[in-house]
Amino acid sequence: MLIDSHCHLDDERLYPDLEAVLQRAQENHVSGFLAIAARHEEFEAVIKIAEKHENIWASLGIHPAEAKNETPSFDDLISFYEHPCVIGVGEGGYDFYYADRQKDFERQRDLFLTQIHLAQETGKPLVIHTREAEKETADLIKSEMKNKSFNAILHCYTGSWDLAKEMLDLGLYVSASGVITFKKAQALRDVFAQVPKDRLLVETDAPYLAPEPYRGKTCEPMHVAETARRLAEIKGISFEEIASQTTQNFKTLFSLD
Ligand SMILES: [Zn+2]
Repeated sequence: MLIDSHCHLDDERLYPDLEAVLQRAQENHVSGFLAIAARHEEFEAVIKIAEKHENIWASLGIHPAEAKNETPSFDDLISFYEHPCVIGVGEGGYDFYYADRQKDFERQRDLFLTQIHLAQETGKPLVIHTREAEKETADLIKSEMKNKSFNAILHCYTGSWDLAKEMLDLGLYVSASGVITFKKAQALRDVFAQVPKDRLLVETDAPYLAPEPYRGKTCEPMHVAETARRLAEIKGISFEEIASQTTQNFKTLFSLD
């Protein structure tokens, strides 16, 4: 069994057909899902999806690309995390890939900090999005860890071994997405070759980032099987072992055992 540790099930490309999407996932041995809210206004919809399905959990946060539109405070958000289906905070983080986002640095930092504080307060792991922001991410995580430790995952990881290593040393987890299957991603496969087996997760980030050979199509949770297959090759272990190991890691990280 596989768990898709990051998917946007409320997205308009997946939600209208959700029961069929989940059925196709089951047929591909994908039977657990972490549904991510990336904007405040998605929180209710994602909670509803999780309430309806025993094997779907929710993580609620605000993506750094939203920082220019909304920077709700800790007090605006904290009550959502009391819901039993909500097991994570985020996705939140830094994204400086597009030049216009670099202007939002302070707003992104405020929003990221709010989500770190929510993780510290609730004890729920933080799902971190980081893109073109390695130094900024490492600096903030390290300084906040000193105030109060929290657990976290680098989702859809595409960064360097240096950042991964620094974060692994702090106890964080690292998640592989379909990007590891892309032809040009050898450097990233080399990074994942070094990540300890007991800190790995797999995800789709559906509806984005479909793995090979589905690249360019709408990504669905069932496609996490392709990513897991490639990750098993990278680690030199069987598909069954990567499936059971990443499932166990997910349960350990989110305290589901
Ligand atoms: Zn996402």
